[in-house]
Amino acid sequence: MGEEQKEKLFNKKENGWKDLSEEKKEEIFKLSKNYMDFMNKAKTEREFIKEARKLADANGYRDIIEFERLKPGDKVYFVNREKSMYLAIIGEEPIENGMHIIGSHVDSPRLDLKPNPLYEDTDLAYLKTHYYGGIKKYQWTTIPLSIHGVIVKSNGEKVEINIGEDENDPIFTITDLLPHLAQEQMEKKLKDGIGGEALNLLIGSIPCEDEKITEKVKLNILKILNQKYGITEADFISSELEVVPAFRARSLGFDESMVAAYGQDDKVCAYTSLVAMMELNEVKNTAVCILSDKEEIGSMGNTGMESHMFDFFISEILNKLEINRPNLLDKVFCFSKMLSSDVDAGFDPIYSSVSDKTNAGFLGKGIALVKYTGARGKSGASDANAEYVAWVRNLLEKNEIKFQLTELGKVDIGGGGTIAYILANKGTDVIDCGVPVLSMHAPYEVTSKYDIYSAYETYKAFWKE
Ligand code: MN
Ligand code: MN
Repeated sequence: MGEEQKEKLFNKKENGWKDLSEEKKEEIFKLSKNYMDFMNKAKTEREFIKEARKLADANGYRDIIEFERLKPGDKVYFVNREKSMYLAIIGEEPIENGMHIIGSHVDSPRLDLKPNPLYEDTDLAYLKTHYYGGIKKYQWTTIPLSIHGVIVKSNGEKVEINIGEDENDPIFTITDLLPHLAQEQMEKKLKDGIGGEALNLLIGSIPCEDEKITEKVKLNILKILNQKYGITEADFISSELEVVPAFRARSLGFDESMVAAYGQDDKVCAYTSLVAMMELNEVKNTAVCILSDKEEIGSMGNTGMESHMFDFFISEILNKLEINRPNLLDKVFCFSKMLSSDVDAGFDPIYSSVSDKTNAGFLGKGIALVKYTGARGKSGASDANAEYVAWVRNLLEKNEIKFQLTELGKVDIGGGGTIAYILANKGTDVIDCGVPVLSMHAPYEVTSKYDIYSAYETYKAFWKE
């Protein structure tokens, strides 16, 4: 009798792998295989947007600039400075009844090159970096690194760089002290063990032949760069070059149940929402997919979610539906629903003390809904209304999608933020909703293939509703 009551009254949080059909398991592994292939081509925001655009073009989406008029069923997108992108399918319902928005970010923590990065010291050449986003600096030493990005010459000519990914490419690395001589370093706090100014990338060691000149190794590197890319040292000034791990996305574990990859925060949610959107056709409410940039450094700037670029995109939709009028944009936002699709901290048994086990997100238990983020007393959080959480919960329950309601860490320990508050401030109902991750912000992050699939199912169900 107790068992019966427990079954009826307890909120069960089951492992998703339990009682899975072979068919479903196959689907889960297939989606993750495609995800890993995509991740190997899309390590930076620019690369992600480039691939996303290719996918959109292949699936009948067109740049909104090309449309004179829009009607239900039309598939449009806008690419913002190659680093963020918004996609939409026009719904059958009037857009002023609200849109269904899913928003993720495609930037990830990394090391950016400084504007004047190149120097030589003791016959070794280096590139100086300035880290981007919240990293644990020590994790970025002694691993293979690649360089991705663009160099734009003063005449506007753009050179794309991607070196360190191909098997035949060289890689780069940041050195660290040998333990034998690291006594002083090892006494330091972990956060001070490696300084920001020590994150210099080793890039060469052969001096050029000319005996009379100084900085022979630097000159030799510049000669190679000039030959390969047609650039001079001054061209670094107008470049965006990102140093990222040269690891490939791989299946993790004897059972291959997990994915290890760089940049899963938040490309795992970006990818699953993008793929879900590609499979949609007619929708009731206008479906919108946001792939934003600069989330990791506060969503500022003209490619970040705080900018007016997204408002511009929706205004263009209203203009081209030929219904725009004063304040309509505000109304559309106020009646919209959003899933802020960003990753959650996965519960790590090795570091269990930072999480409240009854409110943590677990690997393999499905999509994690985060009612509020923020830190220490919900500071800075967008806290979803109970009514909206009930609506989302109902959606997941009727679609038989496993989910978990979670918090990011113990109350006094820390917290996090996403783009949720930005749309919530416009009046939209928003809840955070994403995949739990282990080793978040590390060069190699871990997710469960079950949760990746669960995210994909959730996003698709939300847009279809
Ligand atoms: Mn994130
Ligand atoms: Mn992050």
